[in-house]
Amino acid sequence: MKKTYLGYNSDDNIRKKSSSGGLFYELAISVLNQSGVIYGAGFNENFEVNHIRVTDKKQLKKLLCSKYVQSNMNNVYSMVANDLKEKHTVLFSGTPCQVYGLKTLLEKINISTEQLITVDFICHGVPSPKIWKSYLEYLGNNGEIAGVSFRHKNHGWHDFSFHIAYKNGKTKSVSHELDPYMRGFLSDKNIRPSCYQCPFKGKNYLSDITMGDAWKVEKDKPQWADDKGTSLFIVRTDKGQNLINSVSNSFLTLETDYEKWVAFNPSIVYATNKAAGRREFFEDFNSLSTQEFWGKYKKIPIKKSIKYRAKQMLKILHLEKLARRFA
Ligand SMILES: Cc1cc2nc3c(=O)[nH]c(=O)nc-3n(C[C@H](O)[C@H](O)[C@H](O)COP(=O)(O)OP(=O)(O)OC[C@H]3O[C@@H](n4cnc5c(N)ncnc54)[C@H](O)[C@@H]3O)c2cc1C
Repeated sequence: MKKTYLGYNSDDNIRKKSSSGGLFYELAISVLNQSGVIYGAGFNENFEVNHIRVTDKKQLKKLLCSKYVQSNMNNVYSMVANDLKEKHTVLFSGTPCQVYGLKTLLEKINISTEQLITVDFICHGVPSPKIWKSYLEYLGNNGEIAGVSFRHKNHGWHDFSFHIAYKNGKTKSVSHELDPYMRGFLSDKNIRPSCYQCPFKGKNYLSDITMGDAWKVEKDKPQWADDKGTSLFIVRTDKGQNLINSVSNSFLTLETDYEKWVAFNPSIVYATNKAAGRREFFEDFNSLSTQEFWGKYKKIPIKKSIKYRAKQMLKILHLEKLARRFA
């Protein structure tokens, strides 16, 4: 590990379209400008999440923003191997385990990784695609959905929404604290069983750069806490540092202290604890109808509802930032 940074994109529009501070976009643009190839997670026409290959700026927007579903790799590892054999520069972005899988395979089949740059993220787990498919069905995905965002910033970076745009022009936006799919993710109930034993933590990341959200930025750098999204990232190799240096005109950075940020964002070093209600959640999923299941998990417990209203009140009174700083 070399250095830990905070940062954000100088273009507010890119920041708005990205989950955190918009680091990934700049890294990808830098690689595309060198005629490189980008791999990352995007939706297909049915809103399933797959890894795809991108070679131009127009397609790049498909990769922006977090998709809270395990991404299907299909034959992407072989495609990366072919690109490297043909001497393309490749930027591969995925979970720490996907980066591990790719690098292990390339080593086994003797492909040079000299022109491969890998970025992963601080990952607390990936949700089951089966649960996502069921939620889409519940929302009425019979071809009516035009777009989905798990991290819509219409109410700011902290109070992000789960947002759906329909083909008839209507939209639906629900705070992540109230949406049943997001609550399943953020309470760690719908993530894969292997995520609870994730070994790719601490010193075991194989990537060149690890990206994440600087959620406690108010405590370290209050003047950067503008609620538009701030990235936390760890540069692990010279290759990673060179790529970060190449975006210094469009991405503002500030070196910070790794240990302090591990305390703020423990998922950097610890795997997620198995959620207490996971078993019941999956038993319900397997026994109830789609409508019954989501109807049950849509209900907001009273305690949660009071907490959410209290936060909204702080927001109205413009005391939210102060509350986060001293929480
Ligand atoms: C499932 C998941 C869990 C996460 N958990 C945490 C966490 O606990 N703490 C934290 O600080 N940050 C977490 N992140 C990372 C964070 O949400 C941002 O993705 C990251 O900070 C990069 O943000 P950005 O603004 O630079 O770029 P963005 O434009 O937001 O990032 C897009 C990049 O993420 C990749 N990506 C999106 N969805 C997936 C997916 N399903 N599988 C693989 N790659 C994907 C895309 O390929 C693209 O490279 C998580 C991300 C995901 C997808």
